[in-house]
Amino acid sequence: MHEASLAQGLLNTATKAVDDYNEKHPQSNVQRIAELKCELGLISCVEPRTLTACFELLAEGTVAEGARLIVDVAPLACRCTHCGHAFTLRQRNFVCPECGNENIHFNGGHGLTLMALHVASEDTEHE
Ligand SMILES: [Zn+2]
Repeated sequence: MHEASLAQGLLNTATKAVDDYNEKHPQSNVQRIAELKCELGLISCVEPRTLTACFELLAEGTVAEGARLIVDVAPLACRCTHCGHAFTLRQRNFVCPECGNENIHFNGGHGLTLMALHVASEDTEHE
């Protein structure tokens, strides 16, 4: 499943970031990730709800267990091949707002990018 591999990639990036941080800050180790914010490409064909569900499942037993995953749609930079108008799309509405032409040129819009990571600010662990 496409969503599962994307979720795994996101989790790897997040846990790697925490590992790097902990290596540099041995006195204040991060034990838990509270929230992750990511942006999904407009034409990625990924269902955010499926992605979130996959992530929650994969995150079990890692520092990201119980973390909230926020999925935003990344705005896609487009250009009309007819009139040259440059614009940004946030919805899959591939029509030039200037001339109504449907020949739109764009790059990317497929990926999933981790934008921000919030860690839990607990000083002590009570297990
Ligand atoms: Zn146009």
